[in-house]
Amino acid sequence: MDYFLTEDQIALRDLVRKIADEKVRPVAAELDREGKFSWDLVKVFAESGLYGVVIPEEYGGTGQGVLELAIVSEELAKACAGVTLAVAASALGAFPILISGNDEQRSRYLPDLASGKYLAAFCLTEPEAGSDTASIRTRATRVGDEYVLNGNKIFITNGGVAHIYTVIAVTDPKRGARGVSAFIVQDDFPGFQLGKEEDKMGIRASATREIIFDECRVPAKNLLGREGEGFRVMIQTLDKSRPGVAAQALGIAQGALDLALDYTHKRVQFGRPISGNQGIQFMLADMATQIEAARALVYAAARFVDSGAKNIARASAMCKLMASDVAMKVATDAVQLFGGYGYMRDYPIEKYMRDAKITQIYEGTNQIQRLVIARTLIREAAARG
Ligand SMILES: Cc1cc2nc3c(=O)[nH]c(=O)nc-3n(C[C@H](O)[C@H](O)[C@H](O)COP(=O)(O)OP(=O)(O)OC[C@H]3O[C@@H](n4cnc5c(N)ncnc54)[C@H](O)[C@@H]3O)c2cc1C
Repeated sequence: MDYFLTEDQIALRDLVRKIADEKVRPVAAELDREGKFSWDLVKVFAESGLYGVVIPEEYGGTGQGVLELAIVSEELAKACAGVTLAVAASALGAFPILISGNDEQRSRYLPDLASGKYLAAFCLTEPEAGSDTASIRTRATRVGDEYVLNGNKIFITNGGVAHIYTVIAVTDPKRGARGVSAFIVQDDFPGFQLGKEEDKMGIRASATREIIFDECRVPAKNLLGREGEGFRVMIQTLDKSRPGVAAQALGIAQGALDLALDYTHKRVQFGRPISGNQGIQFMLADMATQIEAARALVYAAARFVDSGAKNIARASAMCKLMASDVAMKVATDAVQLFGGYGYMRDYPIEKYMRDAKITQIYEGTNQIQRLVIARTLIREAAARG
């Protein structure tokens, strides 16, 4: 289908598709096997300007938006969903600065993020606070012209490879969600420590790590917005970022379907390619239809976010929910179409199934996306009376 992309968007898609095919696909299996983050690929992405997509031109980016970030994520994830996060999670970490950074903070941090000199990460999740984000305990206490942070964040994508961390912490425990604030923390600030490095089922080319703040001293000028605004920054960050996760899921699904089409056309059983069987054709047709429906929703939601509309939470949650469920279904069906070979590491398809699963879990599980969607529906119905 034609999504009426602009010339610039088509050029970006074609550029990333080429990078994915020529640079990412050949190393995807090795990075997955070794659970290795690739700085070589970061260099390629940086030289191609992929880190600047969501950063305004005045700070060295290309001033594009969430739709362009989705295009980048989709194309990279067709080849390797793990590698995709070297770009997408840096955008996630930059969003709080884009949302509520002042001129000085933007000038100080965004140019190095746009160029890919430094990567960013977003630190919200804690051992006792996953879906229940209001339960975070990491404390930020004002001492003179600094904040002192104590606590630990887990499962942080780009943890250990990023230099800049946007961190959500409690500044006033008595005020609940209004007592939460957002900070920019550098990995060279005193008291910043790296904790456990995770060994994961999928997206193994992505770095995931615990971040520990042990009397970590953060200059007060690194507070984003005002004290108490952290919860709003966190919600707006996730609203902007979820279409990117949806696009990553879309890329996984499309990549899995492409492999399944190729395989079912070549695999001969009962004297003909297995794609000659109607039962297989129905599966391929359903997979392609689900992917196209997800793509339409992801692109529409990304455009809606880029429009500057305020009420983006539902669209953002819907596209993440749908695309990730499609990715899991399509990748599982693709393994089925490969038969026993699909279960073997020698073939690339099982990785897509492992990679797909995370898209239903992070940046809010799909149960949480359903809660976000339902709450907006119920609120609107109540307002109508
Ligand atoms: C590979 C990876 C990368 C990640 N990257 C980051 C990152 O960069 N930054 C960051 O801050 N976090 C990150 N996360 C954390 C991720 O966002 C959380 O794991 C996720 O939000 C779920 O939290 P939890 O793991 O604590 O699960 P829990 O909240 O304990 O949930 C367990 C189960 O209960 C369900 N559940 C919980 N509450 C409800 C409810 N009210 N109604 C219905 N069902 C419910 C959940 O859907 C889930 O199925 C990452 C996680 C992983 C695995």
